[in-house]
Amino acid sequence: MSFDILVKGGTLPDGRVADIGIAGGKIMAIEPSIMGEAGETIDASGDLVSAPFVDPHFHMDATLSYGIPRINASGLLLEGIALWGELKPLLTHEAVKSRALDYCDWAVSMGLLAIRTHVDTCDDRLLAVEALLEVKKEVASYIDLQLVAFPQDGLYRDPTARQNTIRALDMGVDVVGGIPHFERTMADGTRSVTDLCEIAAERGLMVDLHCDESDDPHSRHIEQLAYETQRLGLQGRAAGSHCTSMHSMDNYYVSKLLPLIAEADVSIIPNPLINIMLQGRHDSYPKRRGMTRVPEMLKHGIRVGWGQDCVLDPWYSLGTADMLDVAFMGLHVAQMSSPDDMRRCFDMVTNVNAAIMGLENYGLAVGKDASLVVLDAGNPIEAVRLRAERLCVVAKGKVVARREKRDTALSIPGRPAGVNRRHEAS
Ligand SMILES: [Zn+2]
Repeated sequence: MSFDILVKGGTLPDGRVADIGIAGGKIMAIEPSIMGEAGETIDASGDLVSAPFVDPHFHMDATLSYGIPRINASGLLLEGIALWGELKPLLTHEAVKSRALDYCDWAVSMGLLAIRTHVDTCDDRLLAVEALLEVKKEVASYIDLQLVAFPQDGLYRDPTARQNTIRALDMGVDVVGGIPHFERTMADGTRSVTDLCEIAAERGLMVDLHCDESDDPHSRHIEQLAYETQRLGLQGRAAGSHCTSMHSMDNYYVSKLLPLIAEADVSIIPNPLINIMLQGRHDSYPKRRGMTRVPEMLKHGIRVGWGQDCVLDPWYSLGTADMLDVAFMGLHVAQMSSPDDMRRCFDMVTNVNAAIMGLENYGLAVGKDASLVVLDAGNPIEAVRLRAERLCVVAKGKVVARREKRDTALSIPGRPAGVNRRHEAS
């Protein structure tokens, strides 16, 4: 058999060593040793070969805008929202599109090949929606971009948000979004969850709500989301993002809530980089972490992914499109330190996030899209520890990024001439 690309000798996340044969943009074979012709051979001996990274929670309309028109002085979520409000009238179609395309280049270099991005629909021009719909088309051959219609200023709190959100869905935006904790009252927030889930059910779409992104233990919109998901038959198609208030909720209440989320098959997307930065800001000491209860949800069989949320925007002043940074921070804040848990964190930023996005052609398996990443690491735990270099990235059957190994040359008498920090025993 002849292949377009043959990836030789890589170690898969489950520990198997295998060759991967690619033709026509698909994975045609995964076997211990594949003999055959190939247009291009990638030597992955000793390196980890994984399905690509997936980010299920991002804001691509705001990314790379850090400092425009000013930086977030307090670092608070609410100042970030206010700052985004100052930036919005200054946005141009060209600038949003060009920053988004720049970010997609970063993503490719990091092996991040599927992204769910929220796009603000509180703008009568729907400028960012138009720009990101164009970006989605332009990157389709190498990135799966999924758009969420996101009424940032509140579905009811902003006078035209609801009609603009519907318009955005009519224009082809994929997923229904919302922000119940930002509505004027708890009751309005609850009503918005019902409304948005009904819109999703009527249109046969997925729904992904920013849910309870606060330290207020009484912010319980996730409960309503679980209820509506069940009532409307949206099981497996609904997600609650952030859910930070769960950190502060009463333990008895959580013992009732988690089985409801599991029963409704609602996915949860914590965003550890952003929430460890934003939450607990009204506390003195002890200061809450504001991370939702990840290990507890995993124990209940709830699907939990890790999202990135922001890179260089009004809410977050750092970020590099690296889902291993996200897994690394999540692992620490959630104290997921056992070998199984650390491997699980790698799985969350790959396979689990892909399941949340409903990506049917994703995965290292015969017949799936030939998208993969070769990492300078021996296994998933080492990849997280090193935030390993992406040596080669293949997207839908084409090599889209490459870099050399970066071992450091040492000049110390009596010591080796070079060092890299891999440690095969891990
Ligand atoms: Zn967000």
